[in-house]
Amino acid sequence: MRYGGNTSCVEVRLDDGTLIIFDAGTGIRALGQALLAQAGPVRAHLFLSHAHWDHIQGIPFFTPAYIAGTELTILGPEHGRLTLEKIVTGQMRSPYFPIPMHAMAAKIEFVKLGEGSVVELPNGVTVEAGVVNHPGCTLGYRLTAHGKVLVYTTDNEPFGEAAASRHLVKPSRHVPLAREADLLIQDAQYTPEEYSPHRVGWGHSTYLDALQIAQQARVKRLVLFHHDPSHSDAEVDYIVAQCQAQIAQQGLDIECLGAAEGAVLVF
Ligand SMILES: [Zn+2]
Ligand SMILES: [Zn+2]
Repeated sequence: MRYGGNTSCVEVRLDDGTLIIFDAGTGIRALGQALLAQAGPVRAHLFLSHAHWDHIQGIPFFTPAYIAGTELTILGPEHGRLTLEKIVTGQMRSPYFPIPMHAMAAKIEFVKLGEGSVVELPNGVTVEAGVVNHPGCTLGYRLTAHGKVLVYTTDNEPFGEAAASRHLVKPSRHVPLAREADLLIQDAQYTPEEYSPHRVGWGHSTYLDALQIAQQARVKRLVLFHHDPSHSDAEVDYIVAQCQAQIAQQGLDIECLGAAEGAVLVF
Protein backbone atom coordinates (compact mmCIF):
# COMPACT_ATOMS: atom_id res chain seq x y z
CA MET A 1 0.00 0.00 0.00
CA ARG A 2 2.84 2.44 0.77
CA TYR A 3 5.87 0.94 -0.97
CA GLY A 4 3.83 0.00 -4.01
CA GLY A 5 3.05 -3.24 -5.77
CA ASN A 6 4.23 -2.52 -9.29
CA THR A 7 7.25 -4.33 -10.65
CA SER A 8 10.60 -2.71 -11.44
CA CYS A 9 10.76 0.62 -13.26
CA VAL A 10 12.99 3.57 -12.39
CA GLU A 11 12.86 6.94 -14.14
CA VAL A 12 16.01 9.06 -14.20
CA ARG A 13 15.78 12.65 -15.36
CA LEU A 14 19.01 14.52 -16.02
CA ASP A 15 19.38 18.30 -15.73
CA ASP A 16 19.41 18.62 -19.52
CA GLY A 17 16.07 16.82 -19.77
CA THR A 18 17.51 13.49 -20.94
CA LEU A 19 15.16 10.67 -19.93
CA ILE A 20 16.60 7.31 -18.92
CA ILE A 21 14.42 4.43 -17.74
CA PHE A 22 15.70 1.33 -16.01
CA ASP A 23 13.42 -1.68 -16.62
CA ALA A 24 9.89 -1.86 -17.90
CA GLY A 25 7.96 -3.68 -15.22
CA THR A 26 4.36 -2.75 -14.54
CA GLY A 27 5.56 0.56 -13.09
CA ILE A 28 6.21 1.86 -16.59
CA ARG A 29 2.48 2.12 -17.23
CA ALA A 30 2.10 4.95 -14.68
CA LEU A 31 5.34 6.52 -15.95
CA GLY A 32 3.84 6.58 -19.46
CA GLN A 33 0.77 8.41 -18.17
CA ALA A 34 2.96 10.94 -16.35
CA LEU A 35 5.09 11.53 -19.46
CA LEU A 36 2.02 12.17 -21.61
CA ALA A 37 0.91 14.85 -19.16
CA GLN A 38 4.11 16.76 -19.98
CA ALA A 39 4.66 18.86 -23.10
CA GLY A 40 6.62 17.62 -26.08
CA PRO A 41 7.37 14.22 -27.58
CA VAL A 42 8.68 11.42 -25.38
CA ARG A 43 12.30 10.49 -26.06
CA ALA A 44 13.74 7.84 -23.83
CA HIS A 45 16.52 5.33 -23.43
CA LEU A 46 15.10 2.21 -21.79
CA PHE A 47 17.73 -0.05 -20.25
CA LEU A 48 16.47 -3.57 -19.51
CA SER A 49 18.37 -5.55 -16.88
CA HIS A 50 17.04 -8.85 -18.23
CA ALA A 51 13.93 -10.35 -19.75
CA HIS A 52 12.26 -11.89 -16.72
CA TRP A 53 8.65 -10.99 -16.96
CA ASP A 54 8.54 -8.59 -14.03
CA HIS A 55 11.06 -6.39 -15.91
CA ILE A 56 9.41 -6.23 -19.36
CA GLN A 57 5.71 -6.83 -18.86
CA GLY A 58 4.86 -3.12 -18.70
CA ILE A 59 5.98 -2.39 -22.26
CA PRO A 60 2.61 -3.26 -23.88
CA PHE A 61 0.98 -0.76 -21.51
CA PHE A 62 3.46 2.09 -22.09
CA THR A 63 1.10 4.46 -23.90
CA PRO A 64 3.76 6.82 -25.37
CA ALA A 65 4.98 3.89 -27.47
CA TYR A 66 1.69 3.98 -29.42
CA ILE A 67 2.10 7.66 -30.28
CA ALA A 68 3.89 8.89 -33.43
CA GLY A 69 6.79 11.16 -32.54
CA THR A 70 7.90 9.09 -29.56
CA GLU A 71 11.46 7.82 -29.86
CA LEU A 72 12.36 4.84 -27.78
CA THR A 73 15.74 3.17 -27.67
CA ILE A 74 15.52 -0.19 -25.88
CA LEU A 75 18.85 -1.53 -24.67
CA GLY A 76 19.62 -4.79 -22.92
CA PRO A 77 21.12 -8.27 -23.04
CA GLU A 78 20.20 -11.00 -25.51
CA HIS A 79 19.49 -14.58 -24.51
CA GLY A 80 21.39 -17.23 -26.44
CA ARG A 81 20.29 -16.90 -30.04
CA LEU A 82 17.22 -14.87 -29.11
CA THR A 83 17.81 -11.25 -30.08
CA LEU A 84 16.72 -8.42 -27.80
CA GLU A 85 14.10 -7.45 -30.37
CA LYS A 86 12.68 -11.00 -30.44
CA ILE A 87 12.62 -11.15 -26.65
CA VAL A 88 10.75 -7.87 -26.30
CA THR A 89 8.37 -8.28 -29.23
CA GLY A 90 7.69 -11.92 -28.34
CA GLN A 91 5.60 -11.06 -25.30
CA MET A 92 3.24 -9.05 -27.52
CA ARG A 93 2.67 -11.81 -30.06
CA SER A 94 -0.62 -13.70 -30.21
CA PRO A 95 -1.87 -15.34 -28.00
CA TYR A 96 -0.06 -13.38 -25.28
CA PHE A 97 -1.29 -9.91 -26.26
CA PRO A 98 -3.82 -8.60 -28.81
CA ILE A 99 -1.61 -5.84 -30.28
CA PRO A 100 1.72 -6.74 -31.90
CA MET A 101 4.66 -4.50 -31.14
CA HIS A 102 5.02 -3.39 -34.76
CA ALA A 103 1.65 -1.66 -34.35
CA MET A 104 3.29 0.80 -31.99
CA ALA A 105 3.69 4.13 -33.79
CA ALA A 106 6.84 5.17 -31.95
CA LYS A 107 10.26 4.94 -33.54
CA ILE A 108 11.75 2.01 -31.63
CA GLU A 109 15.36 0.95 -31.85
CA PHE A 110 17.00 -2.03 -30.16
CA VAL A 111 20.59 -2.06 -28.94
CA LYS A 112 22.25 -5.22 -27.68
CA LEU A 113 24.36 -4.78 -24.55
CA GLY A 114 26.67 -7.14 -22.70
CA GLU A 115 29.46 -7.25 -20.16
CA GLY A 116 31.51 -4.05 -20.41
CA SER A 117 29.27 -2.26 -22.93
CA VAL A 118 29.44 1.51 -22.59
CA VAL A 119 26.63 3.62 -24.02
CA GLU A 120 27.46 7.26 -24.68
CA LEU A 121 24.62 9.75 -24.47
CA PRO A 122 24.81 13.51 -25.19
CA ASN A 123 26.70 15.88 -22.88
CA GLY A 124 29.25 13.31 -21.75
CA VAL A 125 26.69 11.05 -20.02
CA THR A 126 27.65 7.38 -20.03
CA VAL A 127 25.96 4.14 -19.04
CA GLU A 128 28.21 1.16 -18.43
CA ALA A 129 26.82 -2.39 -18.28
CA GLY A 130 28.16 -5.26 -16.21
CA VAL A 131 26.98 -8.80 -15.60
CA VAL A 132 25.49 -9.60 -12.20
CA ASN A 133 24.56 -12.93 -10.64
CA HIS A 134 21.08 -13.92 -11.71
CA PRO A 135 19.71 -16.73 -13.88
CA GLY A 136 20.38 -15.96 -17.54
CA CYS A 137 22.34 -12.89 -18.63
CA THR A 138 21.39 -10.06 -16.32
CA LEU A 139 23.04 -6.66 -16.48
CA GLY A 140 23.60 -4.01 -13.86
CA TYR A 141 24.06 -0.42 -15.00
CA ARG A 142 26.33 2.41 -13.92
CA LEU A 143 25.11 5.83 -15.04
CA THR A 144 27.62 8.68 -14.87
CA ALA A 145 26.18 12.13 -15.47
CA HIS A 146 27.68 15.52 -14.68
CA GLY A 147 29.98 14.12 -12.00
CA LYS A 148 27.31 12.01 -10.29
CA VAL A 149 26.98 8.23 -10.36
CA LEU A 150 23.80 6.15 -10.10
CA VAL A 151 24.05 2.36 -10.12
CA TYR A 152 21.13 0.02 -10.76
CA THR A 153 21.74 -3.61 -9.84
CA THR A 154 18.45 -5.36 -9.28
CA ASP A 155 17.98 -9.12 -9.50
CA ASN A 156 21.41 -9.89 -8.18
CA GLU A 157 22.66 -12.58 -5.80
CA PRO A 158 26.16 -11.27 -5.22
CA PHE A 159 27.61 -13.61 -2.63
CA GLY A 160 27.65 -17.27 -1.73
CA GLU A 161 28.63 -20.43 -3.52
CA ALA A 162 25.43 -20.75 -5.51
CA ALA A 163 25.85 -17.26 -6.83
CA ALA A 164 29.34 -18.01 -8.01
CA SER A 165 28.78 -21.42 -9.49
CA ARG A 166 25.34 -21.81 -10.97
CA HIS A 167 24.67 -18.96 -13.28
CA LEU A 168 27.68 -17.44 -14.81
CA VAL A 169 31.03 -18.04 -16.34
CA LYS A 170 32.14 -14.49 -15.75
CA PRO A 171 32.41 -13.17 -12.22
CA SER A 172 29.67 -10.80 -11.14
CA ARG A 173 30.66 -7.17 -11.45
CA HIS A 174 28.46 -5.78 -8.71
CA VAL A 175 31.24 -4.16 -6.67
CA PRO A 176 33.24 -2.57 -9.52
CA LEU A 177 30.02 -1.30 -11.05
CA ALA A 178 28.96 0.32 -7.79
CA ARG A 179 32.33 1.85 -6.89
CA GLU A 180 31.96 5.22 -5.15
CA ALA A 181 28.37 5.56 -6.37
CA ASP A 182 26.31 8.47 -5.10
CA LEU A 183 23.24 6.27 -5.30
CA LEU A 184 22.98 2.48 -5.46
CA ILE A 185 19.62 0.90 -6.23
CA GLN A 186 20.17 -2.72 -5.24
CA ASP A 187 18.14 -5.89 -4.87
CA ALA A 188 17.29 -6.55 -1.22
CA GLN A 189 14.44 -9.00 -1.54
CA TYR A 190 15.01 -11.14 1.53
CA THR A 191 15.78 -11.06 5.20
CA PRO A 192 18.73 -13.35 6.11
CA GLU A 193 16.18 -15.73 7.70
CA GLU A 194 14.23 -15.97 4.44
CA TYR A 195 17.36 -16.72 2.41
CA SER A 196 16.89 -20.41 3.10
CA PRO A 197 18.52 -23.21 1.06
CA HIS A 198 15.66 -23.51 -1.39
CA ARG A 199 16.04 -19.83 -2.31
CA VAL A 200 19.79 -20.02 -2.87
CA GLY A 201 20.44 -19.70 -6.59
CA TRP A 202 17.24 -17.78 -7.33
CA GLY A 203 19.35 -14.69 -7.96
CA HIS A 204 18.26 -12.32 -5.20
CA SER A 205 19.89 -10.61 -2.22
CA THR A 206 19.27 -10.10 1.44
CA TYR A 207 19.50 -6.57 2.79
CA LEU A 208 22.82 -7.56 4.37
CA ASP A 209 24.17 -8.47 0.90
CA ALA A 210 23.01 -5.09 -0.36
CA LEU A 211 24.75 -3.39 2.54
CA GLN A 212 27.93 -5.38 1.96
CA ILE A 213 28.08 -4.19 -1.65
CA ALA A 214 27.45 -0.61 -0.54
CA GLN A 215 30.21 -0.90 2.04
CA GLN A 216 32.76 -2.57 -0.26
CA ALA A 217 32.05 -0.12 -3.05
CA ARG A 218 32.00 2.92 -0.71
CA VAL A 219 28.53 3.96 -1.81
CA LYS A 220 26.97 7.09 -0.31
CA ARG A 221 23.29 6.25 -0.56
CA LEU A 222 21.70 2.79 -0.70
CA VAL A 223 18.16 2.19 -1.94
CA LEU A 224 16.78 -1.25 -1.05
CA PHE A 225 14.87 -2.41 -4.13
CA HIS A 226 12.90 -5.32 -5.62
CA HIS A 227 10.84 -6.00 -2.49
CA ASP A 228 9.48 -9.49 -2.12
CA PRO A 229 5.91 -9.54 -3.44
CA SER A 230 4.77 -11.36 -0.30
CA HIS A 231 6.10 -8.64 2.02
CA SER A 232 3.74 -6.13 3.61
CA ASP A 233 4.64 -2.47 4.16
CA ALA A 234 5.46 -3.37 7.77
CA GLU A 235 7.90 -6.06 6.64
CA VAL A 236 9.65 -3.67 4.25
CA ASP A 237 9.79 -1.10 7.09
CA TYR A 238 11.44 -3.79 9.23
CA ILE A 239 14.04 -4.58 6.54
CA VAL A 240 14.91 -0.89 6.11
CA ALA A 241 15.13 -0.39 9.89
CA GLN A 242 17.33 -3.47 10.31
CA CYS A 243 19.66 -2.27 7.57
CA GLN A 244 19.84 1.21 9.11
CA ALA A 245 20.57 -0.35 12.50
CA GLN A 246 23.45 -2.35 10.98
CA ILE A 247 24.85 0.82 9.42
CA ALA A 248 24.70 2.63 12.79
CA GLN A 249 26.21 -0.33 14.63
CA GLN A 250 29.13 -0.53 12.22
CA GLY A 251 29.57 3.25 12.21
CA LEU A 252 29.20 3.45 8.41
CA ASP A 253 28.52 6.63 6.53
CA ILE A 254 25.77 5.28 4.26
CA GLU A 255 22.26 6.62 3.95
CA CYS A 256 19.75 3.79 3.48
CA LEU A 257 16.15 3.90 2.39
CA GLY A 258 13.53 1.58 0.92
CA ALA A 259 12.44 2.11 -2.68
CA ALA A 260 8.85 3.30 -2.75
CA GLU A 261 6.57 3.86 -5.69
CA GLY A 262 6.56 7.51 -6.75
CA ALA A 263 9.44 8.46 -4.46
CA VAL A 264 11.66 11.17 -5.94
CA LEU A 265 15.33 11.49 -5.03
CA VAL A 266 17.25 14.60 -6.08
CA PHE A 267 21.02 14.59 -6.21
ZN1 LIG B 1 14.88 -11.82 -12.59
ZN1 LIG C 1 12.90 -9.30 -10.92
